[in-house]
Amino acid sequence: MVYNASSDRYSTMKYNRVGRSGLKIPAVSLGLWHNFGGIDTFENGRALVRHAFDLGITHFDLANNYGPPPGSAEQMFGQLMATDMKPYRDEMVISTKAGYYMWEGPYGEWGSRKYLISSLDQSLKRMGLDYVDIFYHHRPDPGTPLEETMMALDHIVRSGKALYVGISNYRAPEAKEAIAILKQLGTPLLIHQPRYSMFDRWIEDGLQDVLEEGGVGSIVFSPLEQGLLTNRYLGGIPKDSRAAGASVFLNEGNLTADKLDKVRRLNEIALERGQSLAQMALAWVLRGDRVTSVLVGASKTSQLDDNVAMLSRLEFSAEELERIEAILK
Ligand code: NDP
Repeated sequence: MVYNASSDRYSTMKYNRVGRSGLKIPAVSLGLWHNFGGIDTFENGRALVRHAFDLGITHFDLANNYGPPPGSAEQMFGQLMATDMKPYRDEMVISTKAGYYMWEGPYGEWGSRKYLISSLDQSLKRMGLDYVDIFYHHRPDPGTPLEETMMALDHIVRSGKALYVGISNYRAPEAKEAIAILKQLGTPLLIHQPRYSMFDRWIEDGLQDVLEEGGVGSIVFSPLEQGLLTNRYLGGIPKDSRAAGASVFLNEGNLTADKLDKVRRLNEIALERGQSLAQMALAWVLRGDRVTSVLVGASKTSQLDDNVAMLSRLEFSAEELERIEAILK
């Protein structure tokens, strides 16, 4: 199907430099963890990718295991790359990852050279691509020497299968070591992908300093706590929401009275700012320019509109920040 991207697509998005690299990525990126699997509707996935691109979202984040079933998000995305998005490959930053369980036997997960290289080959086939822009090691592997994992990433860049490399879910000391090894190998670490939101602030305790010192960017996942930090659950659990689905990561049990009370109080501040709670939660993550991009998920194109529009109201007063801190305590 012919798809002409909006001629206006670069007019409102903000593009941030990733660490000390030449690459810029949008302040808002789209993740394909949910809503792009074999169980989801292809037309909705297509609408989301098109709409994101029309809004200036040039960065699309995948992993070998996204679906379900595992691999199906890359397949769906590959179908779009072969059709709608084909003319735009050079305007897109596409990432994938390997680290979690993907196939049976001793070579289907973690961080060996054997696993990482074969997994990336499979990902490229599923997406019909010659290379990805960023390839990540998805989680640290306590059983494989870090040198081996980093040498595999270095090899992947030298073989042309990825332009840059990243790590995800590495704690500060492991990240520091990875940065040093990759520097020595001559393939600098581009980016780290940790979880970060108003409700999960672990990266403030050391990791952000390590990344800044190393000239490494950060793209943070689940900045909306999978939808909890939005107005989605203020009136119960909507039928079409993630918490109502089969997710093991967000379900009724996670929506505690304490969390919902905080969400309600945060929502009041957002409304005073003339923003949705989703917009305030994303702007808060980007405060102080320490985070390169917020990596959001979306089930509807209207959520993308809402999220990108937060760029027009990024600043916080000292008083607003204090009130937010008091709620998050
Ligand atoms: P978010 O915290 O952004 O949650 C996304 C969900 O929030 C949407 O599916 C939607 O839920 C809801 N939502 C989004 N925008 C709005 C809005 N404006 N108003 C109301 N509700 C909204 O991120 P995810 O948890 O989806 O993670 C994002 C990406 O991060 C993933 O796709 C993946 O690429 C990456 N990731 C990486 C991990 C890693 O280990 N490296 C782990 C997890 C994610 P609903 O479906 O209910 O409408």
